[in-house]
Amino acid sequence: MSNIHFQEKFESRHNGPSPVEANEMLAKLGVSSIDQLIDQTVPSQIRAPKPLNLPKALSEVAYLKRIAEIAEKNKVFKSFIGQGYYDVILPGVIQRNVFENPGWYTQYTPYQAEIAQGRLQALLNFQTVICDFTGLEIANASLLDEATAAAEAMFMLYSARKNKDANVFLVSDNAYAQTVDVLKTRALSFGIELKIAAIAESELTDDVFAAFVQYPAADGSIVDYKSFAATAHSKNITVCAAADLMSLALLTPPGEWGADVVVGNSQRFGVPMGFGGPHAAYFATRDSFKRNIPGRIIGVTSDSNGKYALRMALQTREQHIRRDKASSNICTAQALLAIMASFYAVYHGPEGIKNIASRINALANLLDQALQSLGYTQLNAAYFDTLRVGLGAHAGALKSEALNNELNFYYNGSEVSIAIDETTTYEDIKTIVKVFAKIQGKTLNDVDFDALEENLGSSIPADLVRTSAYLTHPNFNSYHSEHEMLRYIKSLEAKDLSLCHSMIPLGSCTMKLNATAEMVPVTWARFGGLHPFAPTDQTSGYMQMIGELNDWLSEITGFAKMSFQPNSGAQGEYAGLMVIRAYHESRGDHGRNICLIPASAHGTNPASASMAGLKVVVVKCDELGNIDIPDLRAKATEHAANLNSLMVTYPSTHGVFEESIIEVCEIVHANGGQVYMDGANMNAQVGLTSPGHIGADVCHLNLHKTFCIPHGGGGPGMGPIGVAKHLVPFLPNHEVVSTSGEEGISAVSAAPFGSASILLISHAYISMMGGEGLTNATRTAILNANYIKARLENAYPVLYSGTNGRCAHEMILDCRGFKNFGIEVADIAKRLMDYGFHAPTVSFPVAGTLMVEPTESESKAELDRFCDALVAIREEIAAVEAGDVDQANNVLKHAPHTASVVTADEWDRPYSRQTAAYPLEYVRERKFWPSVGRVNDSQGDRTLICSCPSIEEYAEA
Ligand SMILES: *Cc1c(COP(=O)(O)O)cnc(C)c1O
Repeated sequence: MSNIHFQEKFESRHNGPSPVEANEMLAKLGVSSIDQLIDQTVPSQIRAPKPLNLPKALSEVAYLKRIAEIAEKNKVFKSFIGQGYYDVILPGVIQRNVFENPGWYTQYTPYQAEIAQGRLQALLNFQTVICDFTGLEIANASLLDEATAAAEAMFMLYSARKNKDANVFLVSDNAYAQTVDVLKTRALSFGIELKIAAIAESELTDDVFAAFVQYPAADGSIVDYKSFAATAHSKNITVCAAADLMSLALLTPPGEWGADVVVGNSQRFGVPMGFGGPHAAYFATRDSFKRNIPGRIIGVTSDSNGKYALRMALQTREQHIRRDKASSNICTAQALLAIMASFYAVYHGPEGIKNIASRINALANLLDQALQSLGYTQLNAAYFDTLRVGLGAHAGALKSEALNNELNFYYNGSEVSIAIDETTTYEDIKTIVKVFAKIQGKTLNDVDFDALEENLGSSIPADLVRTSAYLTHPNFNSYHSEHEMLRYIKSLEAKDLSLCHSMIPLGSCTMKLNATAEMVPVTWARFGGLHPFAPTDQTSGYMQMIGELNDWLSEITGFAKMSFQPNSGAQGEYAGLMVIRAYHESRGDHGRNICLIPASAHGTNPASASMAGLKVVVVKCDELGNIDIPDLRAKATEHAANLNSLMVTYPSTHGVFEESIIEVCEIVHANGGQVYMDGANMNAQVGLTSPGHIGADVCHLNLHKTFCIPHGGGGPGMGPIGVAKHLVPFLPNHEVVSTSGEEGISAVSAAPFGSASILLISHAYISMMGGEGLTNATRTAILNANYIKARLENAYPVLYSGTNGRCAHEMILDCRGFKNFGIEVADIAKRLMDYGFHAPTVSFPVAGTLMVEPTESESKAELDRFCDALVAIREEIAAVEAGDVDQANNVLKHAPHTASVVTADEWDRPYSRQTAAYPLEYVRERKFWPSVGRVNDSQGDRTLICSCPSIEEYAEA
């Protein structure tokens, strides 16, 4: 046979172990084949009857060719649509070295602060940008989109309201349609009444707890809300503004005119539109609300050597998401995009951004004058970048002439609005004017641009011109040459451990390969340059890609249809529960408000249930970690009249395929509830079984876990939900772009297809793996996990396993016994850094344990290095246990060790420097130095500093 038809399989690049390695691993497990291992692991009663029916796997080259053809079907017209999304110039140095760089996009959320100082600094920069631009004291990093940030603000202000009888949220009728749509959904569960009206002091009645305004307003006009805010405050009513970040370079920041919360999108700071995302939303507020802020906050503290260090502030609160007492379910939250926006501010600095904003405003002004000179009426007296032109009978003609010139405007009845952005040129203005001239039978020659330019007035009212400084910190004033910028980016990147260095074995997080070929199309202009509200005949490439992904994920989950709105797993949970709610209501089945959740569930489950207005009833787990069936039956029966749903993770968060899962579903159904499956562990199901097959009704997928979207240091992500046939009519709709039918719930995200551009990554993964490849990935994930279990179970007790002693794709290592001689699970996590590894998941789902998930992408060599490290650490623990070394002064307690500690002239430790830094031979080849010693969490929480401190401020703290 010749080799002519040989085609390399992508699968062999994605799955780590070679066939030879796999055989060695199987031998270690005492089984003769992977089929035998899978038979021992996955209960026969849930096994899928048929192999996945998916298109044949494509090679990387063939996929990139195909997706390029699909991209050609997208038309990239010049966008002047605005409405919260603008074209941008992404500086090349940020595109290549951050957006397209696995050193930035493959990290995990920075829970292990000592090996995450780079992105923590970039996120602190982001918070500083937001505080400076909004004029408020504290900001988070970051939220999913502007609309959900507005909803978070609504809920925070509702919880903190002074007048507990007030339940009306007054929403400006000049706010973005997508934001109002999401507010509607979120208000529903809390009994909050939305009142949509023109903003006027007379609307500030006693039943209002807070007001929401858009600044500049949705139609582009600038309204002065100063006296409105003052009146509101005099009545104990708070004010939230959604503000355009770029405009705040020129406008009085909302914090200075009285807003209590400011939210918005940071997309305009160098992040492509991507047909809706991903982008980072921001949330800023007054100091008095600092303990109520949703999402993550980065704060300054010091390390064990007293040096400047950063970490997530109030971390335990975030980590546990306060379960059913939650006010928010934010977990994955667009970190990578916040980092990009922060670098955009570092790159341009205050002058640069002011220049960009001023040019945008000047071009808008020029266009305004030109259109007026042609006799048009421009309706916004005051504006930053958006003009509104009354067209009367010319509307249709203008639209078709604009499309002929590949220009997209925003049409609203007989008005058109035109938003200028950073990419708009003088030539673009002329093209627009030409279009407007033509429908009047005129030409460009009828407009004297030079004269107009000489006489540009101001479109910003004198009272609202910004006078305060911003971005004064040295970080925004030092790196403006490309060399300085490149080196700043690289210096931060070098502090962070990512998948570029070693495996990140985080249980439940599935940190698998994010292949380069999967990432490549994301930054193509034909995907990045599309506005989410672009006319549908320009987006057929996207629609084809999303349609295919819908079909494939439906096949994989065993469901009828997917919704691609939710931007994270937790948002998927929320969306799924709202769909279930709509289903019950549609059947006249009111009052179903009880949600059963096993004790072992991820914190987002009860948090989402609580956001959906449900009451959480906890179901016990037995000593093997399985759902306690008698307890489930008792609670389901007790609440049968009000049972809404059960939320269940499968395989369980304990890493076991529970044999009783089908019975669990039957019990819930028999009592009138629906089964919500948390799909975070889908990596153990794909191709072997499916939520639909098991009997669930809804499931979200974490595309950033199972389907290869990188974690980005804490986002982006995508949490689409799949539903069984009876729930399809209730999938989320969208006010601007229809995504569902009449019975669909209102929107859960700002964009109709969430962070659409990163769906390409999962599309690529499935295309290149095919059904067989995906199934082999699942099998390999289970093999890798069981291999680790076999190698480690003598050193660390493995908490739970299935009937045949097998784990699923992850396992829990019990470290609680070490407490008896002073060793905490955190000491092991920190010591792993000295060995070059990121810790597994710490203390979830069981406190004092480590949950390890290797994924299929790690080779045997890497698994062995990781096991060697943990075995060596176990020996270090044994020395403490034996009393050979002091319980408080040992290599574990002092971990991690920085280069400056190890190379210092002084060394008074009871172990050698070699033991500290190079405990095993392989470490020499690949040393990763933690940039700070162990960080002090409590100090940072006592004195919260959440924006870049000056040297003096830091010294005082
Ligand atoms: C990751 C995870 C979630 C939350 O997903 P996000 O995308 O971070 O919101 C929910 N449940 C489980 C079990 C998870 O592991």
